[in-house]
Amino acid sequence: MRIPNPGYPASKLASLYLRMNDVYLDYNATAPLRPEALRAIGDVLANVHGNPSSTHAFGAAARAALARARKQVADALGVAAETIVFTSGATEANNTVLRQAARGAGRGAHLVTCATEHPSVLEEVRALESEGCRVTILPVERDGRLDAGRFEAALTPETRLASVMWANNETGVIQPIAELAARAAARGVPFHTDAVQALGKLPLALGALPVDCASFSAHKLGGPKGIGALYLRRGARHAPLFRGGSQEAGRRPGTENVPGAAGFGAACQAACAELAQSEARHARLRERLWDGIHAALPDARRNGAREHTLAHTLNVSFAGASGEALVEALDLEGIAVATGAACHAGSTEPSHVLEAMGVPRELGASAIRFSLGPGVDEAAIARVLELLPRVVARVRGARAA
Ligand code: PMP
Repeated sequence: MRIPNPGYPASKLASLYLRMNDVYLDYNATAPLRPEALRAIGDVLANVHGNPSSTHAFGAAARAALARARKQVADALGVAAETIVFTSGATEANNTVLRQAARGAGRGAHLVTCATEHPSVLEEVRALESEGCRVTILPVERDGRLDAGRFEAALTPETRLASVMWANNETGVIQPIAELAARAAARGVPFHTDAVQALGKLPLALGALPVDCASFSAHKLGGPKGIGALYLRRGARHAPLFRGGSQEAGRRPGTENVPGAAGFGAACQAACAELAQSEARHARLRERLWDGIHAALPDARRNGAREHTLAHTLNVSFAGASGEALVEALDLEGIAVATGAACHAGSTEPSHVLEAMGVPRELGASAIRFSLGPGVDEAAIARVLELLPRVVARVRGARAA
């Protein structure tokens, strides 16, 4: 993509790319910043410039801002503030957890995870495998969920960690986390969950579950990009990924991203305050979208069991059309959707998530993901439904030609 004059302000750049009626349906890739987060970030950037590790008053003010943010994130998870470690995002949190589990265990340490995980889990697990770990990547059922019995059967006395995502970024499929965590606990195996897509979308009450650690990313719920958190239950084994200072109670070195944390905290508070309402609203809009798609294109196929899917996510295959081509064609009409994981956008490989669910290759390559959020209303859904059948027909026609 051509980058215009680097001297342009961001607002001008946005106006070069975006139009008035554009519809953003890619909240699982990232969400627009919530106004509460923008205010909190602006306030810290303008008024709190100390280093939280400094002992003077400027440092104390930064420490206070950080403590407030930590408490807001912890409250959203239903855990104590000191169990929250700020990180640069979920990629770092996932890598930290997996690597520490393997560390010091020698060759043969065993890790258990699932085939539909995000690349920040799967790639790190594969790297650890090449370094001598034994890895079990469990298949999922056709509905995208892990079978709890199969999961438990994979745990051995050598298993150092089991890691299963709370909800999938491509399909929205929700895993039976309480059940899996309980089975891991019964076997004495530490349990981690990548809960990026669940935070702000589902009530988590993490403190009530036998989950040892969990990963989060602020920008998925309207916080800023480049900040996330690792939840570490009291007493959970931990080793920092980086070496350096003793920030975050020795659990993550590096000067803290105070404005980012403030934005994350504010976003958590705002998202959780409206959770019940937004879940119902998204489910209604999502079903309207699906009903409209299904009525206009009866051969469209929904991926992921509806009763186990995040309310704002819809993954649909349009046989005979390439998902990539659909994303491009919809983009030209001002509608932003995705084929799957944003970090894999542009790749022509079919989704590993759909493949693991047994979706035939051709159908997997024709899938697109609609993910809704606070900025999506009835009018936006109506616009998509008005344009989509024509776009699908055009893309199918181009392929047939
Ligand atoms: N896990 C899941 C399920 C995700 O959706 C993402 C973001 N695509 C990540 C981890 C990584 O988050 P980040 O890019 O913010 O580090």
